[in-house]
Amino acid sequence: MLQQTQVNTVLPYYREFLEHFPDLKSLAAADLQTVLKVWEGLGYYARARNLHRAARVVAEAFDGIIPANWQDFRKLPGVGDYIAAAVLSIAFNQPYAVIDGNVKRVLARLRRIESPVNKSSSYKIFRDAADKLLDPENPATFNQAIMELGAVVCTPNNPKCACCPLQRDCLAYRTSMVEGYPKKLKAAPLPLYHIAVGVVAKNNQVLITQRKPEGLLGGLWEFPGGRIERDEDPETACIREIKEEVNLIVKIDSYVTRVKHAYTHFKIVLDVFCCRYIRGKVKLNGPVDHRWIRLNQIDKFPFPKANHKFIPYLKRCTASHDKKG
Ligand code: SF4
Repeated sequence: MLQQTQVNTVLPYYREFLEHFPDLKSLAAADLQTVLKVWEGLGYYARARNLHRAARVVAEAFDGIIPANWQDFRKLPGVGDYIAAAVLSIAFNQPYAVIDGNVKRVLARLRRIESPVNKSSSYKIFRDAADKLLDPENPATFNQAIMELGAVVCTPNNPKCACCPLQRDCLAYRTSMVEGYPKKLKAAPLPLYHIAVGVVAKNNQVLITQRKPEGLLGGLWEFPGGRIERDEDPETACIREIKEEVNLIVKIDSYVTRVKHAYTHFKIVLDVFCCRYIRGKVKLNGPVDHRWIRLNQIDKFPFPKANHKFIPYLKRCTASHDKKG
């Protein structure tokens, strides 16, 4: 089930994922780092961690058979109402209506629902509307049809009402109010965080750290760094963050580049520096692991997409370190 992700983006990852993990047993037996490496670049890493955990739960608690009832399936890691309804209806033909963004848009127009689609308290209203429409004999076909209708016919802009099979029943169409639905609350602008990142070089190797297993980008590797404080310049922030996070004293050798990246709830600007190791022994405060690696070993570790945007420019970090001793 795809949420906030386009099919075309996912397809190559999906194929590769199936090549590595052709069945539930192989996924359950894999270690998390391998799963994250195969998932790398797709974002939403909590989904990879949850899928992996869910495979293990099914393998251990359900003898490898995916539970086909709401109670057990809904309790699997990463499974919410949307995933449970989608899997149980489409895979097991059980009468649960799926509510996603496309479905909400169709329902909002079909029934002229005034509640904003992006307000959490509206969920029940859309859920009730979908339940009333659901064909309990054919929930798999119904759910896929309404999701597809939202994706290709009842699109956000210029819906193709002329060829829509729901045209006769659609209140928004019949009252010439299609443009007025769905109602939406104005989204607040995403906060922007400015972050300094240091690529610490020592003996032709660079330091990478691993994020804690839970939370944003959990389990992935990255270069040490952190938020630049108000009135602080990026270089000072880089040196301070490295001291706080890995307990090393470093000196800035050069500026690498600036990259920008957007997550679902915020945006970041990263200023990346080559840093020379001066002294200290790594002591972690935040990360759960670290490695000194050669740059040609970087592909062995899963990194967030924002890091991949500057990794091609890092050769100069070890090169400048070699030159200066
Ligand atoms: Fe959407 Fe138009 Fe069909 Fe109504 S008639 S459901 S607005 S495409």
